[in-house]
Amino acid sequence: MSTIYCSQYYEYMNQNQYKKQILIVGGGTAGWMAASLLQHHLSSQGFNIALLESDNIATVGVGEGSTPYIKQFFQTLGIDEKEWMSKCDATFKSGITFKDWSTRKGFTQYFHPFTSSIDPESYDIFRQVTHLRHKNFRVESHPDQYFLQSELIRQRRLPISTQPSHVNSIYAYHFNAGKLGEYLKKRAIKLGVQHLIDDVIDVNLSLSGDIASIMTASGRELKADIFIDCTGFKSLLIEKALKVPFTSFKDNLFNDAAVTVASEAKNSYSPQTISTAMTAGWRWDIPLTSRTGNGYVYSSDFINAEQAEQELKQAINLTNANVEVRHIKMKVGRLDKHWHKNCVAIGLSQGFIEPLEATALHIVQLSIEQFIEQYKQGSFTNKHQDFYNHGVNHMFEHIRDYIVLHYLTNSRNDSAYWRACRHDIKLSDRLQAAMEVWCSGGDLDQELHRQQVTQYYSSMSWYVLLAGMGIFPNINSSTAQVHEQADRELNNIRTRLKSYANFFPFSR
Ligand SMILES: Cc1cc2nc3c(=O)[nH]c(=O)nc-3n(C[C@H](O)[C@H](O)[C@H](O)COP(=O)(O)OP(=O)(O)OC[C@H]3O[C@@H](n4cnc5c(N)ncnc54)[C@H](O)[C@@H]3O)c2cc1C
Repeated sequence: MSTIYCSQYYEYMNQNQYKKQILIVGGGTAGWMAASLLQHHLSSQGFNIALLESDNIATVGVGEGSTPYIKQFFQTLGIDEKEWMSKCDATFKSGITFKDWSTRKGFTQYFHPFTSSIDPESYDIFRQVTHLRHKNFRVESHPDQYFLQSELIRQRRLPISTQPSHVNSIYAYHFNAGKLGEYLKKRAIKLGVQHLIDDVIDVNLSLSGDIASIMTASGRELKADIFIDCTGFKSLLIEKALKVPFTSFKDNLFNDAAVTVASEAKNSYSPQTISTAMTAGWRWDIPLTSRTGNGYVYSSDFINAEQAEQELKQAINLTNANVEVRHIKMKVGRLDKHWHKNCVAIGLSQGFIEPLEATALHIVQLSIEQFIEQYKQGSFTNKHQDFYNHGVNHMFEHIRDYIVLHYLTNSRNDSAYWRACRHDIKLSDRLQAAMEVWCSGGDLDQELHRQQVTQYYSSMSWYVLLAGMGIFPNINSSTAQVHEQADRELNNIRTRLKSYANFFPFSR
């Protein structure tokens, strides 16, 4: 089925009157991911899926990094990895290096790795070592020494095992977001998603407060049973029409803008995102096969757009005056309800935490999957709406806390921005409790399990961040002792990592 225009929508709906209609509004990455999953799970259950997008309103057009969870999205849909990667200029991602976030000696850089099958054992030892370090033992407490993917990055190897039954690692991707959207769009249309092009100009509500229909610029009225709001930061249906309140994270996260520019692809790439601290935020460096993605995420309370652009260009030695530079405003926070009445918000319309750790598409995927599950379990009614909203908010809050931790633990003194991140950021009670446990040398793993947050970021990720930033008490040289057992364990780990690394190919 090819793209259809609104005049054909009614004809199509008349032919499918017995079916329930789901209308997705917005054709960014979120819209097409939603269309793909809804088509996959619900088209056989008597649902017809249509997507309306505007020819006049651009997508946000950024979002080049992912978490490993997106691999399941492609697997669920039966999309071949090699095929989509080659069409979307994609590269593998083993994790993220954080540069210059900390000024503590020995901790000015660390790598946040995705896990591997041999990490649980090393993590156990690493965890004990961090506790010993709190007790003033002179032990190696930098996370880069303990995990397989850190070793792979050191050796410039890809996270793809040649002996997966022996050792394997989870990984994510970098990709051209525009090309991924196009790829998913073509595929979804081929599989039967109805594609409409028009602009929404108004939303009609029924007496019950549900969305009855939307009005388009070409004068059509489009009705559906469920509306999926994928209109990006505009949040046209759920926030503007249904007046669902939005909770800003401005007190927790100061960044509200970004400037992006592409530079040439590197001759050889390291499969990682690099996040480097800047004067009033941080910049990403993402390797794609066709280009290097660069972006500076900053707080407009501390620098203006022009200063940010200059600083970014200088940092990446960009002298070409003709390159395309994009400035983007970010609305950081979340809706109070992501599913309200007969409308579900997916993507930037439901909220955004900020690009650090590249979690937005992860949230998109989980939100759609959980909606489908709860909708089915509730016999295609809104019976489980409250449960769903609670779950999505829980996810937003906990992912936000982990992101906040990066800013809170910085030790930079070179700008008012970094000092404010340390002193003025508002912490949730949960994050405060976790910090207290860590700083007192307590069992953070236990605390995170008590808080039930390890499904978002594993406790290994929390330990890696806190240790990687060097959040330990100062060593008291006169009383510090070595710990021979810990040193022996580290030697064994180093030998093991080097030997296992041989099962992974070098990147180009
Ligand atoms: C600076 C920055 C960096 C990011 N980096 C990452 C990253 O590394 N990893 C990650 O996972 N995510 C990242 N994100 C988030 C990511 O870009 C988004 O989650 C993703 O692109 C999905 O966006 P969206 O589809 O919700 O919205 P959009 O791309 O904005 O799409 C909105 C759609 O709605 C349509 N629309 C709007 N108004 C109307 C109307 N009136 N009528 C009809 N259609 C309409 C538009 O035409 C468009 O098709 C980043 C975001 C920003 C701002």
